[in-house]
Amino acid sequence: MRKLALSDEILLRLEKPARYIGNEVNAVVKDPQKVDIRFAMCFPDVYEIGMSHLGMQILYDMFNRREDIYCERIFSPWTDLDQIMREQNIPLFALESQDPIKKFDFIGITLQYEMCYTNILQVLDLGQIPLHWADRTEEDPIIIGGGPCAYNPEPLAEFFDMFYIGEGETVYFDLMDRYKENKKNGGSRREFLELASEIEGIYVPAFYDVAYKEDGTIKSMEPNNPHAKEKVTKQLVVTMDEAYYIEKPVVPFIKVTQDRVVLEVMRGCIRGCRFCQAGNVYRPLREHSLEYLKDYASKLLKSTGYEEISLSSLSSSDYSHLEGIVNFLIDEFKDKGVNISLPSLRIDAFSLDVMSKVQDIRKSSLTFAPEAGSQRLRDVINKGLSEEIILKGAGEAFQGGWNRVKLYFMLGLPTETVEDMEGIAELS
Ligand code: SF4
Repeated sequence: MRKLALSDEILLRLEKPARYIGNEVNAVVKDPQKVDIRFAMCFPDVYEIGMSHLGMQILYDMFNRREDIYCERIFSPWTDLDQIMREQNIPLFALESQDPIKKFDFIGITLQYEMCYTNILQVLDLGQIPLHWADRTEEDPIIIGGGPCAYNPEPLAEFFDMFYIGEGETVYFDLMDRYKENKKNGGSRREFLELASEIEGIYVPAFYDVAYKEDGTIKSMEPNNPHAKEKVTKQLVVTMDEAYYIEKPVVPFIKVTQDRVVLEVMRGCIRGCRFCQAGNVYRPLREHSLEYLKDYASKLLKSTGYEEISLSSLSSSDYSHLEGIVNFLIDEFKDKGVNISLPSLRIDAFSLDVMSKVQDIRKSSLTFAPEAGSQRLRDVINKGLSEEIILKGAGEAFQGGWNRVKLYFMLGLPTETVEDMEGIAELS
């Protein structure tokens, strides 16, 4: 029988034991003895949030399609388990094999938002892995940071052996091949890091001297190792239909934040809102073809048993085949009890028409994101929304049958004045 890292006695004391036992539908089982590389993919937040992240599911599937790699998952233990692990000296383990992660070759940590940075230290600490790269030895895993916050790596540079700048589908296999080759040749950790730093998109902090200005911004950054490049360039998927996509996402036993099939329709955003990290790091816009999405929608609903499918992108209204994919989903799946959800739509007549086809209007509210209360500040952040457009959108929504509208604003934008803040109340 499969042995769990936590005893029944501990599991029954926890708020949600299912966060820690693995073995969900579509979870991958391999013999750790029969692979060359053990990779722990970490989302440094609680299970329900991490399991809702599409990027992690894509990379998990991509790695595990290779026979020589066993990719497993780790998340931040909730405070109840954190305390027990510290009291009983239980090392952090991966969900699939339930083995301690300190035995692994790699730990890849996705950096989605800065609020999770302290959780990264929690994961390393509970994993019994030295926090700083300078203190790690040949016995320790290589710690990689990736995801959107890796584009600004310096605040975390002391804790990571390397950062992967760009989209995960691009250079990971090259990195893994170099690791395998180095291991076979009896090479050291440092030799592997040198090989890795030659790959476009890989940044190894140990190989750069960084000087700071008084205000904390970077003054200079010089490579101190001949293998390190002067400039690290982000790596992007060029043709979306040719990139890896999941066919069998892991389906959790418990309710998670994104409890549905997620179909990525495109990556990037054509809008240029100045405050938007995603809009900037995922440039340029790249779309999936309609045929590809039709195929994957059917495959994913079948392999998971989910009764809801969500179209995912930064700004779905800008997807050029939106009408085609929505009509396909309605025709194929609505009668089979599958709900369709369409987040990230701009509110205009076309979007309202599409949404009224797929949603129960009485139950749902519409969300606009004017972001700032005054036209002046909306212009500063390049939001591209006038008061007229916002009021027209709201008017069309009310006429279309919705009776609730949610508005998102941000406080604290650069140059903000009291008038801008008062503008929020006036517009609302
Ligand atoms: S439309 Fe949304 S995703 Fe696109 S740049 Fe603006 S805030 Fe970012």
